[in-house]
Amino acid sequence: MKRSLIAALIATLPLLTGQSIGQEKAKAAPKPVTGYTDTPFLPGGKWRVHDDARPRPEVVTPGKTAADAPSDAIVLFDGKNLDEWVMEKDNAPADWIVKDGHLEVPPKGQGVGGYIKTKREFRDVQLHIEFATPEKVEGDSQGRGNSGVFFLGSFELQILDSYENPSYADGQASALYGYKPPLVNAVRKPGEWQTYDIIFEAPEWDADGNLLEKAYITVLHNGVVTHHRQPYLGATGHKSVANYNRVIESGPIKLQDHGNPTRFRNIWVRELDLDAHE
Ligand code: MG
Repeated sequence: MKRSLIAALIATLPLLTGQSIGQEKAKAAPKPVTGYTDTPFLPGGKWRVHDDARPRPEVVTPGKTAADAPSDAIVLFDGKNLDEWVMEKDNAPADWIVKDGHLEVPPKGQGVGGYIKTKREFRDVQLHIEFATPEKVEGDSQGRGNSGVFFLGSFELQILDSYENPSYADGQASALYGYKPPLVNAVRKPGEWQTYDIIFEAPEWDADGNLLEKAYITVLHNGVVTHHRQPYLGATGHKSVANYNRVIESGPIKLQDHGNPTRFRNIWVRELDLDAHE
């Protein structure tokens, strides 16, 4: 009886002092080192090496897989509608075919179709887009599953059925059309779904319209690097040399109607602030 009374008193001691044993432990723990205030300055003198005052990167929740839109993406096509798109020629609602969760270039000669573009304008972006060239191979060379993704409405990354297709090198899938072939041909067979994961950097100009920085593109085609920060020669042309004669600072993302029933799905874009941590 005496022993249990003493044990009960001991048990209440932390309460009497206003502290739990756990709290004492927490107080005693050393503060974790989250950064430094006495390290040398990085070039430019704004931030120290490991600077504790430097803002941490913004948190983004990734998609379930790398193909799914992360939390800060703008979904341009989720298989349901073309609300984010209009016709390039007259800004009318986009009239491409939406069915079975994908988008398809409409057949020729029925009074529909033409290039479509996003309602929004962009500059530096990360774009994910999935496409499938027609399973039934019709036509040849540049007539097979031809389409394209245009940045700022002007800089094309080619889409083509490049599976055993001898068409010209700078017109193959993942080419900067009319200029730079992809590092390798990473194409899948006709009808199979393929992915482009793209980082596009818009060109920069001074106030007088002189080019300061070219446009650059980095591309993974089906997970394979086909361009690594490749500069564009200029806005894409056909049978002409690309150039920077026009000041193009921002613009829509555009998809090409080349008269082939190429399909698309799961299109999302992230606007990039490439100067975020300067
Ligand atoms: Mg094309």
